[in-house]
Amino acid sequence: MPSLTEIIYILSNQGKLKLDIEAITRMLNYRQKGREDTEAGGVLLGRFIKDSKDIIVDHVSVPMIGDKRTRYSFIRSKKMHQKIIDKEWSKSNGTCNYLGEWHTHPEDYPTPSRVDITNWKNRLKDDIFSSRYLYFVIVGLSETRVWEGDKRTSEIKKLKNIY
Ligand SMILES: [Zn+2]
Repeated sequence: MPSLTEIIYILSNQGKLKLDIEAITRMLNYRQKGREDTEAGGVLLGRFIKDSKDIIVDHVSVPMIGDKRTRYSFIRSKKMHQKIIDKEWSKSNGTCNYLGEWHTHPEDYPTPSRVDITNWKNRLKDDIFSSRYLYFVIVGLSETRVWEGDKRTSEIKKLKNIY
C-alpha cells in the first residue's frame, strides 16, 4: 500500500520530477481497488523550478463529465480538462503549466498498453506545451509510475523513482 507522501523521479537530464502530496493524494483516491472500479485520469499541472532542472506537479485534474471511463480505458474530455489548464494558467500568472497526463490501471505494477503509447505519442505531436517533454503517470494498485515523452524523438522512457 503506497503511503501518502510526495514521490520523486529522476528525469533523463538528471533533474527531478516531484509529485506533490496534494497531487498524489488526489490521484491515489482513484486507485481501482474495487472489482468494478473504472479507470480515472486527468492532466498534470505544475511548475518549472527556476535555476534548476526540477519540475513539481502541484495539481491534477480529476474525472469530469464528458470523460469516457471503462474498467480498461480512460478517454478524457478535451474541452473540460482544457478549462482547468486555462484556469490554473491564469490564476498563477502563467507559472502553472500543462505537463502531461495521468490515468489509473487495475494492476499492481502498471505498464502502458499499446493504446496508451499511441495516445502519448499523439499528445507529444499535437499538444501545445512549453518544454521538450511531457510526463505520463499511471497509478497502479501498488505503485505509481511515470514515463517521460520526448517531443523531438517521440521516445518514451520510464523514470526511476528515488523515494
Ligand atoms: Zn492505460
